[in-house]
Formats: sequence, structure tokens, C-alpha cells
Amino acid sequence: MEDESIHGYLLRLAHRFGAAPLEIAVRTGLVVSGRGRNGIPVRLLHDLDEQRLGAFARATSLTHGEARGLLTASLGERYGPLNARLLAEFRTPARMAHNNRWILTKATRYCPRCLSGDGTEIEQRHGGPWRRSWRLPPVFACLRHQRPLLYGCLRCGQDINAARGGSLIARASEAGLHPARCRATLPGTRAVCGAGLASGEADRRPHAPSTVAALLRLQHYFDGLLDLDGPREVGSFGWLIPAAQYFVDLRAVSALIFMTWPRARKLADAEALAALVDREAEQRHADFARSRAEAEAGRRRQASRHYSDPPADPAVAGAVLGIAARLMSAADENETHEVMAPIIDGAKERNFSMSYQFRRLSGTSYPLQAILLTSRRDRGAFQRMGQRIESKGFRRLARVDSLVS
Ligand SMILES: [Zn+2]
Ligand SMILES: [Zn+2]
Repeated sequence: MEDESIHGYLLRLAHRFGAAPLEIAVRTGLVVSGRGRNGIPVRLLHDLDEQRLGAFARATSLTHGEARGLLTASLGERYGPLNARLLAEFRTPARMAHNNRWILTKATRYCPRCLSGDGTEIEQRHGGPWRRSWRLPPVFACLRHQRPLLYGCLRCGQDINAARGGSLIARASEAGLHPARCRATLPGTRAVCGAGLASGEADRRPHAPSTVAALLRLQHYFDGLLDLDGPREVGSFGWLIPAAQYFVDLRAVSALIFMTWPRARKLADAEALAALVDREAEQRHADFARSRAEAEAGRRRQASRHYSDPPADPAVAGAVLGIAARLMSAADENETHEVMAPIIDGAKERNFSMSYQFRRLSGTSYPLQAILLTSRRDRGAFQRMGQRIESKGFRRLARVDSLVS
């Protein structure tokens, strides 16, 4: 199925044969049986070595290209946080899947309408596709069905793969559970929740139409950049940068937004979206303060993930990434100075060493690094910075992007 992930493919194949997902993983050569294994390694979501890919393709009668199409590795071409050329620290698939927070391996997002299937016999029986792109934090809405994605089960409130241990699929050694059902374990029991995910729309408090419209507009913009046929270069602070790198820059800017919240609050597309970030940022500030207290007591290193992790909740992700995209749509050095100087100052005030980490995050574009590391934040310094970026061969964006201007 289009954009189907290997996670969904295994669920569907298992359901079709009345087998456990783990058994299918063993029989298709993804997992070596025995050794007390009862889970499917998470890194298989991202990439397979040639030998495993060959065995899997043979067993499933897929071509190598089709088999590779189930993995998230190829998304790195357009989505920088999964691109090993841009991010040297994630050069092995295991590191990419385990150490990289900008691929969602723990939180599971989904569109209930996609999971309910398209009415064809196969989708009626086994559900619609679990899409690869739902693993990317900047994918928070479904344009096919014009709605935000969901995360978590509407009945039990847990992640639908909760209690998976280290496995890609929870309850991987149990057969019979439909692919579009919650696999979480009910608290205090050993029973599976089993709630249907495809029909869970009615009992949710929906977002206001204007909020949904704002999320869909931004998703349309991001989907265009993630598309293999999308533009090769995109505007960021008035400079043309490779499209894949745009998402690495987005990662850095969203960390700074959380770190300095509510400084960028007025840039939210809708009050409801700003309120979502209020709640999330309050939690992140509290977690950060606690981790700082622990670090000062010498117990452990201060963690930066409180600000740099993407939000699991799709609407919150859309809200903060929308603000980041708006900041990055600044047309020139004057506008960049106006929107970014308060944020750079705020980050330094909150925690200098951590602000420095975010300001020189690996894989970000040269223009963004130049902006974030400009030491004096007067207008003149930003203009001289512009000349420096130009001297590095970067071209200016000819027109201001229509989405975020
Ligand atoms: Zn959908
Ligand atoms: Zn549930």
C-alpha cells in the first residue's frame, strides 16, 4: 500500500495468516528466532542490511525497491533529521532509530480514516495502511482526510503500542489482533485494550475549524517539501537551502521556541494553537528545572531533550512547527533581526551552554548557524552577517513564501 510502513505490513500479513507478527518477522528473515526473543527490533523500521533485505524480499515476493519502500531510510532524502549525510552522529541504522528523537519510534500517530481502509476487500479485512510518514514529527495531519492525526488510544488513553518493551510492535508474539486495534495493556491487568482505532472519531473533542484549517495549511506546505518531486531548495530566513536541511533547521528553531516560550507566542496561527504550546511549554520548563536541580546536585548531566524533543501530540507539533516556519519565513536580515534577536537573547539568559548547543546543532544550514551565532544582535551585525552568508555562495530567496508571510 502507498506509504505503508514495515510495522503496518507485518501487522497486516500476520492478520491475514492468523499468525503472530513476530512469527511473520522470523519467517520473512527479519528476526532470527530463538535466544528468548519476544520482540521485533525497532531499528527494522528504519533500514535493513542487504542480506536481510534480500531474504525479506524473497519471502514476501516483493521487489527490493518495494521492500525498501517500507522503510523510513529513504525519507532522509527529503527529511534531514533522517539523513545520515547531514547528521554524522546517526550514521548507523541502530543509532538513527534509537538515539534520534526526530523519528517517532515511541509515540504512534495515526489517521483513523486511513486505518478504516478505502473500501476495497483487502482493506476491509485487514484495515488501511499504517503510513511511514506518521513517524515524522512534521507530519501531524492527513491531507487525504483533511484532519489532524491522533496519537494514543481514545479508550484507554495510552500509546497504542504501550508496554511493547523494546519491540517495534507490542504483543508481537500474540496472533489474531486486528492491525487497526489498540495493542496497549490495560493498567492493572494483563488484558489487551483492543479498542478499534479506525472508528474512534466520534468521542473526541474536535479542534475548532480555524485550528484545523491552520494545521492543514502548514501540513500542505511540509508535504510539498517532503515530496520526492518537491523543490530541491527552499527559503529559510531569506536564503535558499536544501529542502532536507530545512527540517534540521526546523528542529533547532523549535527547540529555541520551547526554551524561550512565550517569546514567540504572538506568531501562532490561532489562539487555540498558542494555548496548546502554553501547556506543553509549561511542562517542559518544569521538567527542565527539575533536571537542572538534579544536575546541580551532581546526580547527572543536564538534559537538553526537554526542549529539543518534538511533541508527541500531533496538534502541539503543528502549533510549534508552525511558529518555527513563520520565523524562518523572515525575508531578509532586518526581519531576521526583528524576530530572532529576542529569542537568541532569551535562550542565552535561560541557560547559556544549552542555548549554545541548540545554536550550533549539527546538520543545520550555514545561514541558520550564522544567524544563531551572531554575537552582537544589533541590526548592523545582522547585515554584516548577510554579507558573510552571501560570500559563502548562498543565494537569496527571490520571493517571500506565501504560507508564512
Ligand atoms: Zn487519513
Ligand atoms: Zn487502548
